[in-house]
Amino acid sequence: MKEDPATNPDSALREVVFSEETIRHRVRELGREISREYSKTDRLVIIGVLKGSFLFMADLVRAIDTPHEVDFLMASSYGDATVSSGDVTLLYDPKTNLEGRAVLLVEDIVDTGATLSELIPRMEERGPSRVDVVTLLHKRLTDGMLEPRWVGFDAPKSFLVGYGLDHAEDFRHLPYIASL
Ligand code: 5GP
Ligand code: MG
Repeated sequence: MKEDPATNPDSALREVVFSEETIRHRVRELGREISREYSKTDRLVIIGVLKGSFLFMADLVRAIDTPHEVDFLMASSYGDATVSSGDVTLLYDPKTNLEGRAVLLVEDIVDTGATLSELIPRMEERGPSRVDVVTLLHKRLTDGMLEPRWVGFDAPKSFLVGYGLDHAEDFRHLPYIASL
């Protein structure tokens, strides 16, 4: 019997790029590196960029043993398209006071860098002691763009889904990352 892509979203996927096991291992490593970088006096705030970072964020904060607060922001740039439109809207702005505190932005994937170059100044306006970025995936599409402090994996240029990443809100729940 032929598989129906509507009832089995996995069958529409091309290939697994990062397995559940590979992701788990790397996220733990990132957690250890990040824990070493901050101390209690930094009053760290970890801000997840919704929606794509939600699974990465959930796994990452459990691998970080420096005390910290958690918040989220929501930025929209892609809509349902698979190519960046290059204009970023802030749909939810974190309410946490960032004054004098270390901010760590958690991104799912950096593509052109347009989202980050919009988000970082908005965080800096609020007087944090520092703003750093950890991204799970990096496509390295633009030369000379701001380099995230931590990168999970260099990613292929193809459109990726799973582990929080969607295509038209589909596939976010997959425990691995695949190219569509
Ligand atoms: P940038 O602003 O760097 O061009 O794009 C960053 C954002 O675009 C990411 O946070 C993510 O939401 C989206 N994006 C970029 N590449 C991909 C991809 O391969 N798959 C998915 N699902 N989203 C992507
Ligand atoms: Mg995103």
